[in-house]
Parts: sequence; C-alpha cells; structure tokens
Amino acid sequence: MSDEATEDLRVLRMPVELDYTYSAGRSASRFLRAIQEGKLLGQRCPVDGKVYFPTRGACPQHGMPIDGEPVELPDTGTLVTYSIVRVPSANIPLELPYVAVQVLLDGADTVMMHVLGECDLETVHMGMRVRAKWKPKEEWSTSVANILYFVPLDEPDAAYDSYKEHI
Ligand SMILES: [Zn+2]
Repeated sequence: MSDEATEDLRVLRMPVELDYTYSAGRSASRFLRAIQEGKLLGQRCPVDGKVYFPTRGACPQHGMPIDGEPVELPDTGTLVTYSIVRVPSANIPLELPYVAVQVLLDGADTVMMHVLGECDLETVHMGMRVRAKWKPKEEWSTSVANILYFVPLDEPDAAYDSYKEHI
C-alpha cells in the first residue's frame, strides 16, 4: 500500500446537487403572488391574534388553521437582532462584510431574515427603524428577493419593550 492510501482522510469534497419541483401550497402561494405586486402579507392567529409573517396555513403555537383574511403589512419595521457576516458562503452572492438582520415588520409578531444595506457597520444596532429597499418594479417576481435589503430610517429607535419578545 502507498503512503497516500494509509493517510487519514481529513477532508472529502463531494459536490451534491438535487433538482426538484416545490409546491408552495395555498398559503405560501398567496404570499408569493402578493409580493409579486409589492404587498407583504401576514395572517392572524384566531386564538391569540398574533400576526404571522409570511402567511401560513396554521398557527405553529396553537395548531389551529389560519384561514382568515390576510393582513397586509407595511415595509417598515424594527431591527431586532443582527450579525455582521465576514465569511463567504457559496450561495450568498453579497459583498463582504454584510449585515444579516432579523426585522420585525410593523404590525407583525414574527421576524423575517434579510440583510441591511446603505449603513455603516459601526452604526448598526438593535432597535433601529428600517424600511425595505425594493428592486425596480419591472423586476418583481414571486420572490422575497424583490426586497434587495433593508435601509435605516431617519427615526428614533424603537423602545426595547416593543421588540424584546422577538430577540
Ligand atoms: Zn396561535
């Protein structure tokens, strides 16, 4: 046996690819059709009134179907947590470093993940008020990528109590 064959294997690179057709289902389809028109839809739980964003077929807390009218949310919100990303990732074509954020849209009770743009890294902080920066309308599709990123709003920070349950 050669030395190579007896060496410990430490790294094995094995690219894997899987193509499949994803059926979004009724609830997510409604969300995706709405975002194609620049609307952000959530749905309200019939038990406690919490607004889940995006729309879902059922409340994950109560297990109840959520089939009422969707709630249209604004594209403004509060940055509740963030992380400055300095490590490249093959499937994220953003220039490093960038800021991954969780945004609590105004009127929603769940956060969405996105990125922050047009902002110095040193000034990013919890409680910042932000607004979505959309792609040009003619490029909109059935994708959350219609929102390029969030940008800071020139507003006072949100009170900690208004978002502390979402950190
Ligand atoms: Zn619920």
